[in-house]
Amino acid sequence: MVFGVGNPSADLMFVGEAPGFHEDQQGVPFVGQAGKLLDKLLAGIGLSRADVYIANVLKCRPPGNRDPMPEEKEACEPYLFRQIGLIEPKVIATLGNHATKQLTGKDTGITRVHGKEQHVTLGGRRVLLYPLYHPAAALYTPAMLSVLEEDFRRLPELMGRTPAEPDPEPELEPLVAAAEPAVQLGLF
Ligand code: URA
Repeated sequence: MVFGVGNPSADLMFVGEAPGFHEDQQGVPFVGQAGKLLDKLLAGIGLSRADVYIANVLKCRPPGNRDPMPEEKEACEPYLFRQIGLIEPKVIATLGNHATKQLTGKDTGITRVHGKEQHVTLGGRRVLLYPLYHPAAALYTPAMLSVLEEDFRRLPELMGRTPAEPDPEPELEPLVAAAEPAVQLGLF
């Protein structure tokens, strides 16, 4: 199992797709070629692995590196949400299509949404979700690498933003508003 690695108080969390061969061997996400590129991109904005948290949608390597199956994503989702809830990042950068679709809950592909931050509520917390191309895809496509580098450069600014206001609380019914504070507490 490849759970996750990094700073448990990180403001920036990366979510990739699934462990590959090398990750499976070492039990650490993003240690192969894609990971080396991720390290380089991080260094380019003055960060290292020790500053961020890195996890994947799937916690185990799909045989032969095939795409994750829906039931595998579903089985691993509670672990990812719990990781997000514990780390409480300000920004979650999703790497590639699978992580982006999983965490936005939408089917829009990475080509359309990369570099466009969006406010989402995950595990009851507002976070800025920032979809990026997957480094493994960028490794072999120079045009994609330039876009990934350009999108990456916006990360410090996004991390410096103050968190978005939470969704407005629903209006309390008069009867509830008049109740004892202890009772009100129980209702939240
Ligand atoms: N690709 C991923 O999506 N995750 C890893 O951990 C390694 C490669």
